[in-house]
Amino acid sequence: MQEDAHSPHVHGFWWSHIGWITSRRNFPTDYSKVRDLAKFPELAWLNRFDMVVPFAFAAAMFGVGELLAARAPQLGTNGWQMLVWAFFVSTTALFHGTSCINSLAHLMGERRYKTTDDSRNSLILAFVTLGEGWHNNHHRYMSATRNGFYWWEIDPTCYGLKLLACTGLIWGFKAVPQSVLDEGARAEHAKSVAAAERRARFTPVETSPLSRVVPAAAAIVVATVQSANCDAAPNKEGPPMHRDIPVLPENPASDQSTHPSASAILSCPFGARAGKSGSSPGAATRNGSTA
Ligand SMILES: [Zn+2]
Repeated sequence: MQEDAHSPHVHGFWWSHIGWITSRRNFPTDYSKVRDLAKFPELAWLNRFDMVVPFAFAAAMFGVGELLAARAPQLGTNGWQMLVWAFFVSTTALFHGTSCINSLAHLMGERRYKTTDDSRNSLILAFVTLGEGWHNNHHRYMSATRNGFYWWEIDPTCYGLKLLACTGLIWGFKAVPQSVLDEGARAEHAKSVAAAERRARFTPVETSPLSRVVPAAAAIVVATVQSANCDAAPNKEGPPMHRDIPVLPENPASDQSTHPSASAILSCPFGARAGKSGSSPGAATRNGSTA
């Protein structure tokens, strides 16, 4: 990665995005590394005088705007408006879209291949750059014509090249080797298995709906049986909390036979057990009040 002229992890985001390509030291072309480019003198000339095309495009947009102002004034445009929108704004947007591949395509997205450059595949960047966003694929096998290795990885640039190939203007496409495709398929499979394992570790497995229904039903049965054991009818005076508080005797220990204990009241909401011992909580109230 240290040799990478435009890695955001080595030189920072802005260098990878715009610094390296505007640096003077990166301007000269080492033709020994691009022999196929050196074979075409017209392309080498364009590479040397790379300002010619943008200047020509800017002049053309200004000329078109002036022509429209003279011939179709109802459109409300002119040379300067066309120069700003059709040249400066569009060229700036195009430049930053392309530059995203050197900066953002090493920061956002998924890594299919374990390359040493931290390159990534991103659907969003693939939309923005017409297919270049499958940058991890590109770093794995750079000489392939296409960047989207599978049919679902959209690659409009490749579709355009195929159309041009139909006209006979271009030829010699280089395919992705089957071994590289198989390597990608294995990596995707390993990733999906790892993701499933992570999910299983953090989410409890719901074996059956019965696992929730059965404990709830058992709790209802136990509560029903317990309330059936309370053999006295519900006290019409209401629950114990709403009744008068009994007047406690001076010496509780000596009066236990006539007053129900607190545990007796709590154990049966209807006062059945208190009744069995000789007096209900209601009776205790009356007893207390008359004592
Ligand atoms: Zn890269």
